Amino acid sequence: MALDSGTYIYTDAKLNVVYSNSLRAKRVTLKVNPKERNIKVTVPGLKALPTAKNFVEKNKLWITQQLELLPPAQPFEVGGFIMFHGKLYLLNRISSPKGFKIDHERQIINVYSPDISTFSGRIRRILISEARSDLDNASIYYASKLHRKINKISIRDTATRWGSCITRNGLGNINYSWRLICAPKYVLNYVAAHECAHLIEANHSKSFWNVCSEIYGEINKPRQWLKLNGPLLYAVGAKF
Ligand SMILES: [Zn+2]
Repeated sequence: MALDSGTYIYTDAKLNVVYSNSLRAKRVTLKVNPKERNIKVTVPGLKALPTAKNFVEKNKLWITQQLELLPPAQPFEVGGFIMFHGKLYLLNRISSPKGFKIDHERQIINVYSPDISTFSGRIRRILISEARSDLDNASIYYASKLHRKINKISIRDTATRWGSCITRNGLGNINYSWRLICAPKYVLNYVAAHECAHLIEANHSKSFWNVCSEIYGEINKPRQWLKLNGPLLYAVGAKF
């Protein structure tokens, strides 16, 4: 019986490598996964597993180097720092619910967490809720510039794309990564404008980029930022 695509068939914990079955792949490939902070080996069927292991063995040095090149993890720990709005914010645990807030002036995220085991979950929820609010506002703003309506906005922890948009009967469903809240505001706004431009053009044609620039302005700076700093966004909340 053939295994489904995407099934993990073997994990090398020492090297931090996971082997994933693929029905479509023709050969063994290695790819850095900045979100899982590991290397994914695509294996074209179970029979190719020995070949894949051999390939990994040959590329051990490359694998170690790639993993070392990942930005340092920013775990959700008391006293730790994480990127938020493109700056480093201190994660502070407080004993009274009254002080619960994000202090933008001093760059501190104050979290009321009577039980320490809930601290990291609370940070994550704060980031998701901040992302939801900023991305909702930005999407409504850009969609209204295009006289279009959005049906639904979902906030997820996407692995490959910062946003995506599907339009049906003139209404759009947009997905975003919560991690955009960790990027500077102009980058989050750019991704919202980009997805809203897809409400008009469901492709990346020249006219799509024209619509995108028309509602957002100069798009090179935020695109460059994402290209350079994307892995940094995935380091937020990583444990090691
Ligand atoms: Zn796009």
